[in-house]
Amino acid sequence: MKPKAKILVVDDDLDFIEISKLSLEGQGYQILSAFNAKEGWKMVEKQKPDLIIMDLMMERLDSGMALSQQIKGHPQYTAIPILMLTSIARDTGMDFTPRTRVTRGLERRSLLLEAKKLREERERNLLELANEKSRTQTIIHCMGDGLLVTNRDEQVVFCNPAGRRLLGVKRPIQVGEPIAHMTNDPELLSLVEAAMNLKEGQEMASKELVARMPNDPALMANCAPVKDEKNQTIGVVTVLRDITELKELDKAKSTFVSMVAHELRAPLAAIEGYLDVILEGVGGDDPQKMHRILERSRERTRGLLALINDLLAISRMQAGRLAKEKEKLPLGILLKEIAELMKGEALEKKVTIEMAVPDDLPLVQANREDVTRVFTNLLDNAIKYNHHGGRVFLRAGADDAFVRVEVQDTGIGIPKKDVAHLFDEFYRVKSKETRAITGTGLGLSIAKKIVEGHNGHIEVESRLHQGSTFRVLLPL
Ligand code: ADP
Repeated sequence: MKPKAKILVVDDDLDFIEISKLSLEGQGYQILSAFNAKEGWKMVEKQKPDLIIMDLMMERLDSGMALSQQIKGHPQYTAIPILMLTSIARDTGMDFTPRTRVTRGLERRSLLLEAKKLREERERNLLELANEKSRTQTIIHCMGDGLLVTNRDEQVVFCNPAGRRLLGVKRPIQVGEPIAHMTNDPELLSLVEAAMNLKEGQEMASKELVARMPNDPALMANCAPVKDEKNQTIGVVTVLRDITELKELDKAKSTFVSMVAHELRAPLAAIEGYLDVILEGVGGDDPQKMHRILERSRERTRGLLALINDLLAISRMQAGRLAKEKEKLPLGILLKEIAELMKGEALEKKVTIEMAVPDDLPLVQANREDVTRVFTNLLDNAIKYNHHGGRVFLRAGADDAFVRVEVQDTGIGIPKKDVAHLFDEFYRVKSKETRAITGTGLGLSIAKKIVEGHNGHIEVESRLHQGSTFRVLLPL
């Protein structure tokens, strides 16, 4: 059953309240009453009536008016219609027809409620729209790619912060300023123009923009036309992407390839030279000389093979970088095995290897092949760059977080200026001591990659003509 409409009658005249009750309750309304403004307000708060009939002048001249203002001023009750009655009207009976007035009042009330509902709905829609707009704005504001919108006259309509940053514009953009004020890159300007005049079937104009100043980013620009409902181009949306890193990677790759080519060419050219000497007989037929030439060729061939093996190691490392099998390695045992394998080489040079590796070294989570490569290289260098009859110390220990391995030698040492570059690819110290020692300059760079790939650290301390210490820390 529909609940009865509640009518509050506020009047200090008991008879009037009585009359109202008699005439309105019969019509199916629930009548509430209050005898003064204060009670009237309490009743409004408690009962939330659908309509109020109020005497304008009750105990005080303006109390009815004050109550009605209080009600209208409260957002929760403002929609409740109030019928104000004056005593004159009542006394004369002119304007006092509760039944008709109440009906009209309630109609008004339902209209007001309907209007309130519509207003709230509209506000909700507007809020949703505003939320959606601010969401989109936030996304555009925060995106890393630059976004630039220009109109038919090549004036800037919109530019996000990334767009300004990538174009090197520090000041705010004025809507409507020519795009040529933002950039003087002729390639970008002609790309935007080209996007305005694309042929049927072409969706966008794209181009890599060359950095014009040393610190400028390299950009990829994609310009697409904006069409109206008649398929007319009304502007251009340009997306700018910073491709500096990609370009650098590309450059690093080609530098590496040319370094490899260079490193391969030198020994091959030497071997070819020796072969020419033999084949053309220019070296005479001194067997000793011939032997020396062949030996040198063999050495260069070995160097070439070592280089190719190191290059293969690098490419294997890069290929398997993501999923390399790691195991709990007993590093102490592994180090002893490696030292054992190096004994032959050490003996040739009369170098002694002294070990201080505890048996109970904690296990490290690592790839066996990689770790073997690191310490083989360090021991190999410690022997190779040592003096005849020198010494090599292999020490290991552990603390709470790391296993520390040190390979120390009493060899030729490393000049200070070279230390910083020691782990660079193909870097070799050029001195009269190293001239006769073959190597690729890749061993230490590979070692560093491996150690860092295990979240470890490699460092070197060296004193020229006294020796070097390479230290590796691997996390437990
Ligand atoms: P390679 O030994 O094949 O040349 P590495 O990357 O292993 O390449 O070493 C790079 C360079 O660092 C060597 O050419 C050498 O000049 C220097 N070096 C490495 N280890 C030592 C060492 N223990 N003592 C002196 N110099 C060293």
